Amino acid sequence: MYTANKQRYETMEYKRVGKSGLKLPYVSLGLWHNFGSLFPHANSREMILGAFDLGITHFDLANNYGPVPGSAEETFGRVLAQDLRKYRDEIIISTKSGYYMWEGPYGEWGSRKQMIASLDQSLLRMGLDYVDIFYSHRPDLETPLEETVSALVQAVRSGKALYVGLSNYDAKRTKEAIDLLKAEGIHCLIHQPRYNIYDRRPEEGLYQVLEEEGVGAIPFSPLEQGLLTNRYLNGIPADSRAAGGSIFLKSEQITEDKLSQIRKLNDIAVQRGQTLAQMALSWLHKSPVTASVIIGASRLSQIEDCAKAHQAAPFTQEELDKIDQIVKG
Ligand code: NDP
Repeated sequence: MYTANKQRYETMEYKRVGKSGLKLPYVSLGLWHNFGSLFPHANSREMILGAFDLGITHFDLANNYGPVPGSAEETFGRVLAQDLRKYRDEIIISTKSGYYMWEGPYGEWGSRKQMIASLDQSLLRMGLDYVDIFYSHRPDLETPLEETVSALVQAVRSGKALYVGLSNYDAKRTKEAIDLLKAEGIHCLIHQPRYNIYDRRPEEGLYQVLEEEGVGAIPFSPLEQGLLTNRYLNGIPADSRAAGGSIFLKSEQITEDKLSQIRKLNDIAVQRGQTLAQMALSWLHKSPVTASVIIGASRLSQIEDCAKAHQAAPFTQEELDKIDQIVKG
């Protein structure tokens, strides 16, 4: 029988999401890798409960997370039912739809049919009446944006989602979607972009739109899938994502050049009194638009490390410049 750590709210920092009433933890946990049915349930459970014990109140999911697709939501539903049910009101659960989930013309993208059916499936898999945040996972250029947005609006009006968000939308489409939602009286809570020390695309207009519109950001892959940690400093460990045949992080991507940059970044982190993972997360939080960051993990010790990221001093301009110089090669 699980009982949550009584000190869980004493060490984590919580930040307001844009101009909304909601606060999220400095670090949130994503269930994209390592939580599907092909992974040991005991480890998934240990990570979810361990995260909650550290004050991590936000868990990020999507319809298709696994493998097999859908099974990360089932894993989370199982832990919720067995251990976390009494803490439901202390937890922010997000899910998304848009990527391929089932056969036929309604199994992906952004039609109203797809979005609403997918949300219903996610609720069933997790054993929930509602999710806290429902996202359009990616823009669909063939479906009118009005239709995708109408599905988000319906999710809120039907009580199946408390808030809505966008993911992988560029600055222009983000602004259009925010305006369409506004016209329906619904504030876009949050945007989930890919953003980290290496991937700077959100700086090309997206963060500015979010700031102007009072929308929060929650970057995904903040550790560049593990590259921005000490994971690969001494080679490619057999139990790492890069060694595991992931199509998203291939061992060929970990070149000597990259490793040399990572070692230099690690030196700056050490001088700041942080691990490289912690520094990579603090770096994203230097913008007030960043409300939280979504880390992935394969073991609880990684979450414990990341959960301390907020404890360091702010960056000096000299540190920020050095980081830029290193990644520009
Ligand atoms: P990260 O960049 O945080 O990479 C996670 C990996 O980094 C872990 O699996 C682990 O690698 C390693 N790691 C994490 N912490 C540490 C640490 N302290 N020390 C050493 N290594 C560490 O994120 P992900 O790419 O996993 O994405 C995170 C989440 O973002 C997803 O779960 C999902 O919720 C969301 N996401 C959203 C997308 C979207 O389109 N909206 C797309 C992708 C992700 P290892 O497994 O090798 O141990």
